[in-house]
Amino acid sequence: MIKRGIGRQIVLHYFIVVFVTLFMVEVIFSLAIRMYYYDTIKNHMYVHSTWASDYFQKFVRLNAERDPDYFTEMLRTFELDNTELLILNNKGEVQASSSGFQADKAIQTSDVPQAAAGNVGTWIGRQTSTGETVMAVSTPLQVRGETRYIVRYLTSLESVNSKLMNLTLVSVGVAGAVLALVTLFSIGLANSIVKPINNIRAVSAQMAKGKFDVRIKGNYKYELGELAATLNYMAQEIVRSNQIKDDFISSISHELRTPLTGIKGWSETLKLGGFDPEETELGMGIIAKETDRLIGLVEEMLDFSKLQQNEMKLVITVVNLKEILQETMLNVWAKAEQKGIQIKLDDHIERGIYVNGDGNRLKQVFLNLVDNAIKFSAENSWIHFVIKQQSDTQVLVEVVDSGIGISHEHLNKVKDRFFQVNHQGGGTGLGLAISQQLVELHHGQMDIHSELGVGTTVSVMLPIHEIKDEGEVSSPDG
Ligand code: ADP
Repeated sequence: MIKRGIGRQIVLHYFIVVFVTLFMVEVIFSLAIRMYYYDTIKNHMYVHSTWASDYFQKFVRLNAERDPDYFTEMLRTFELDNTELLILNNKGEVQASSSGFQADKAIQTSDVPQAAAGNVGTWIGRQTSTGETVMAVSTPLQVRGETRYIVRYLTSLESVNSKLMNLTLVSVGVAGAVLALVTLFSIGLANSIVKPINNIRAVSAQMAKGKFDVRIKGNYKYELGELAATLNYMAQEIVRSNQIKDDFISSISHELRTPLTGIKGWSETLKLGGFDPEETELGMGIIAKETDRLIGLVEEMLDFSKLQQNEMKLVITVVNLKEILQETMLNVWAKAEQKGIQIKLDDHIERGIYVNGDGNRLKQVFLNLVDNAIKFSAENSWIHFVIKQQSDTQVLVEVVDSGIGISHEHLNKVKDRFFQVNHQGGGTGLGLAISQQLVELHHGQMDIHSELGVGTTVSVMLPIHEIKDEGEVSSPDG
């Protein structure tokens, strides 16, 4: 017995469809072959009876009443093998019979009245005397348009019926074999579907319980293969994002602890009192700087969560892109100076370039990119801001550094949230993810090209609002 489920449904489906089809074919076949045999017999008798009728018209008609022996002559001429030939009068009384058997009662089967009425009559039924199934064909023999006699052929259908029965039995046998084959085939098909499904279900149940190291094994085909591959990929991604989350928690704890330790240390020290103003100012300065760092961290996380929930609201105006880049450079100047890094703007557009955007958010993007460039560049190196017109509608800003670079393996992951090549470097791994989403909110595109040990170029493409000479006043938009 097949268990309840898809397997049983498939087998049942096939069985019912094939069974109904075979049943119909069987019925049609039996009826058609029966009709064919019966029609052949009927036609055979009919043709002979019309010949007999013609013969009667030509030779017997005038003399029949006077000399009934003419009928005997007729019987001899027209009798057929395995068939009884009778001449009846129009009341159905037997005048002559090829078998010599003369029934004492008039024959009343439906073919006789039909023939008496001038038509050819056929009757199939059971003969009471022998119990056999027979077929009778009766044709009128007419004198001056009036039926006087009837020529009646009568044959047994027993041997035909037994032939038909044999044929039906053979065809039922063939149909049964076909049904058995189809059932076997459908069981095979059901198993080929159900087994992988059960395997996939068992493995996914383990995944649902949190075991993401299990994988669906087996080389499944088509949709099942795709399903297995998707589930395996999902498990792999869950493992990866769990790893990223763990890394994030550890790096964020570290990021929070460092400034907090500074703040706690200095606040406890200053609480003791007795320091000169210079020392007090130094301590207070460190507390303020570390607090800013903490605020920056928290803001980064808040931005990220806003972006994730599509709640980031941009204040869109027409902004001067070059101004934004210059302000960004000014903001990081001191930090770059500390490492002896030179920052330069390569301006390939002579005129002012304006984009529709949120000035603060665009500045946040470039600050993050240049901040990374400083963080991952060696001392006394350089960073270039390149601005050029990419097409009539697009402006390209590149932040190029000659820093440590990113390996090919890590390159397509650096834009993922929380991803960091090295967790010791500080940061949250959110900067590039946030920047990417902010650029996309500006209908732009951000790409990273990098070579390990050579340097990194981050390019930001933005749609141009307009290009015009510096000094012209742009009108606020949006
Ligand atoms: P964070 O800077 O806080 O770590 P980001 O999302 O800004 O996070 O950067 C993710 C990672 O990408 C960094 O940790 C670093 O490994 C790599 N990265 C980003 N910018 C650069 C760069 N200019 N040079 C080398 N590596 C970089």
